[in-house]
Amino acid sequence: MLTIESLDAGYGKLQILRGLSLEVSELETVALIGANGAGKTTVLKAIMGLAQVMGGRITFYGTVLNGRPWYRIAQLGVAFVPQKSEVFAPLTVMENLEVGAYRIRRNKTEVRQRLEMALDYFPHLKRKLSQSAGYLSGGEQKMLSIARGIVGSPRMLLLDEPSLGLAPSVADDIFDKIGRIARGHPSLKATIIVEQNAFLALETAERGYVLEGGEVVLAGSSADLIGNPHVKKAYLTA
Ligand code: ATP
Repeated sequence: MLTIESLDAGYGKLQILRGLSLEVSELETVALIGANGAGKTTVLKAIMGLAQVMGGRITFYGTVLNGRPWYRIAQLGVAFVPQKSEVFAPLTVMENLEVGAYRIRRNKTEVRQRLEMALDYFPHLKRKLSQSAGYLSGGEQKMLSIARGIVGSPRMLLLDEPSLGLAPSVADDIFDKIGRIARGHPSLKATIIVEQNAFLALETAERGYVLEGGEVVLAGSSADLIGNPHVKKAYLTA
């Protein structure tokens, strides 16, 4: 459903990704792992129209994404949850969720169902619906940004560093929810997780790609990558 072929991408004249190719099939969860600066976030930004594509092609359900503005890509059903959970601080938790439902705003029944579903994944937020999002803890803001991402019935969910800045127990909890969402959310056909914590990401995903210097250096099933000596040494040891 998503195909990236020979992608060159970056920012202005700075090229970060070099001839990068990857594929995500329907109903798959895929992890992108690699060191700081390897280009993982840039892959998500290129898909979302937020980084500059200099060459190659990104296709989503047969539609070429590169060259389209981010809001058109969002309309096609791609949701991006950025690394720094960007909640709208002055808005309440409920208002933040309603912003996420913009894509499906005309179908009030679907909006109601999706809001309920998002809150079922994150029941903790139910008690905070009328609170300003800016007062939530880091973990709660992460929950809200993921919930807001799925409220609009996306077909593909792009998650950038969901564990960043969270205590290990909170990160485990968030990844447990991500696994449930990726496997069970009715609109979702695929999820891509970019993560520094390679073990958490590979435990949740079926397949993974290892990025180094803007290129894919290794790809395989999560089980194969977890057992791979290079991955173990570079990314799985504390
Ligand atoms: P991290 O886990 O640290 O975010 P990453 O693998 O996700 O790493 P990217 O965020 O894709 O890496 O960054 C790849 C390179 O692109 C880095 O050298 C970074 O400094 C550079 N970069 C990222 N965003 C921009 C930008 N907006 N303008 C210029 N360079 C950027």
